[in-house]
Amino acid sequence: MAKLNPEEALKYLRWRRIGDCTRCDLHRSRKHVVFGEGDSDADVMFIGEAPGVEEDHKARPFVGPSGTLLTWFIEQVGLRREQVYIANVLKCRPPENRDPEAEEIEACAPFLHTQIWLVQPKVIVALGRFAGNLLTGEPFMSMGKLRTGLWTYENAKTQMSVPIVPTYHPTYVLRKRGSVVERQTKLKVISDLQKALRYVEEGDELSV
Ligand code: URA
Repeated sequence: MAKLNPEEALKYLRWRRIGDCTRCDLHRSRKHVVFGEGDSDADVMFIGEAPGVEEDHKARPFVGPSGTLLTWFIEQVGLRREQVYIANVLKCRPPENRDPEAEEIEACAPFLHTQIWLVQPKVIVALGRFAGNLLTGEPFMSMGKLRTGLWTYENAKTQMSVPIVPTYHPTYVLRKRGSVVERQTKLKVISDLQKALRYVEEGDELSV
């Protein structure tokens, strides 16, 4: 069989490997598997937590209010959404948008690791605590602490080593709407994304 290019391999992963997944209980309540989307050759990969209600309906990541804000953040640093790759820790919506459970993350994470391997990003932006905890291997660290550290995504199986920039989840920012914290957090996210772009553009050493 001819070797698949990353785009074809992502499709293979989605339709032949994940398929109509029943590996955890989330399949009982989800409408669609939300695999991820974007440029299969992207330099920047964004990883969120799990689909919400609109994502579940449309089978696309970050298409609800948090997606509008994520797209705005992406554009604030001079990128277009089509230039990046966007995925989630979980591919199915947890009921009532509750937090992901450990067994769900364990069942779903191998697909995310394969996505990272196929896209081969130069930097990973972890949106929120769940993506940050999983990718850094620091399961209990708060976003405040994650943001101020230096992190690398290491995968012994794929021999990948990619800088991670953890930042606030857009949903967190939306929850602070109308407050001083909203403005402060937006500035922090933009500054984090600028840091991520420095990895891509200059191959910078991370500076806190
Ligand atoms: N929140 C996420 O973490 N991911 C989505 O796709 C939508 C909302």
